[in-house]
Amino acid sequence: MEPGVKEKLSGMFPGKIQWNCSLKEYTTFSIGGRAQALVKVTDRNELQKLLCFVDAKGLLWRVIGRGSNLLISDNGFPGIIIVLQGDFSRFTKNVVEESKDVVIRVGAGCSLGRLLKNCVDSGFSGLEFTVGIPGTVGGALVMNAGAGGEELGTVAGSVTLMTQNGIVELGKNELDFTYRSWRGFDKFRPKSVIIESEFFLKKGDVRQIKASCQDLSERRKRTQPLEYANAGSFFKNPVGDSAGRLIEASGCKGMNVGGAAVSDKHANFLVNCGNATASDVLGLMRKVQRKVRINSGIRLIPEVHFL
Ligand SMILES: Cc1cc2nc3c(=O)[nH]c(=O)nc-3n(C[C@H](O)[C@H](O)[C@H](O)COP(=O)(O)OP(=O)(O)OC[C@H]3O[C@@H](n4cnc5c(N)ncnc54)[C@H](O)[C@@H]3O)c2cc1C
Repeated sequence: MEPGVKEKLSGMFPGKIQWNCSLKEYTTFSIGGRAQALVKVTDRNELQKLLCFVDAKGLLWRVIGRGSNLLISDNGFPGIIIVLQGDFSRFTKNVVEESKDVVIRVGAGCSLGRLLKNCVDSGFSGLEFTVGIPGTVGGALVMNAGAGGEELGTVAGSVTLMTQNGIVELGKNELDFTYRSWRGFDKFRPKSVIIESEFFLKKGDVRQIKASCQDLSERRKRTQPLEYANAGSFFKNPVGDSAGRLIEASGCKGMNVGGAAVSDKHANFLVNCGNATASDVLGLMRKVQRKVRINSGIRLIPEVHFL
């Protein structure tokens, strides 16, 4: 980045920029090189200013959430990483007294964990399936995060985006979610940041909601290698089958490349055994894809995003 541009950016966001920032700490994989800069924005004005600046200067940028579905290159990211905080974690609710329906509005930087806790405490049902998914609302919308046959797209209402030109609100009928993806987001992605979303929930019984979260959470602990850094399920499930089953049937459980290994507990989890690099994970990914292809004829598609 040219020194003049760097100085200007520093002046615009005092105390909010980490230069030459290691991205390891910003991903659940604990893998990744450095970004030129990481900027934590706390309100809409700041984000608008930043988007105008990066657009005017032609700088590369990307917004990330909790980095729980990301594999970041060992070479890092030659641009600006944006993280949403402060106002972007806000939560408001609209309860219609005489009906069972509830509408909540949540900032895209809010963690799913905090959102779910708020819902459970308020007795709102519909997001129990998100228990244990370590993402933010923004990342979870892009991924159409889900579990046990339920997914975020089903309960999402309108979604608010910000571009350098201002705010765009997309109605529910303009969103097209598919398995582990908000398909239509690709046309907005290069210029847009998700800043807020509505969710349609139902009033429920607090005890029942808590019990169901507890069950799901215990199931995760039993079946997922949470003791290792990872990015959740690495591959998407092919139609009518499960990636984990195919990987296991191909004899890949326990296979490793450098510090990356196929989990013994859940074959669709590629885990960082301590010092894995992104190239280790990519090497392992290709090995697994090759073995599954030979064994079953199926080409596994990664669910994880690459940066
Ligand atoms: C232990 C573990 C368990 C998991 N279990 C599940 C599960 O059960 N189901 C499931 O679906 N996933 C699961 N995941 C994967 C992951 O948590 C989800 O995909 C999550 O929704 C990603 O959210 P994030 O905020 O971490 O997004 P990130 O990984 O930070 O980003 C994902 C993508 O969204 C983009 N993005 C993020 N925020 C924004 C924004 N505000 N505006 C525009 N683009 C944005 C990023 O650029 C990136 O392309 C799991 C992961 C782990 C580590």
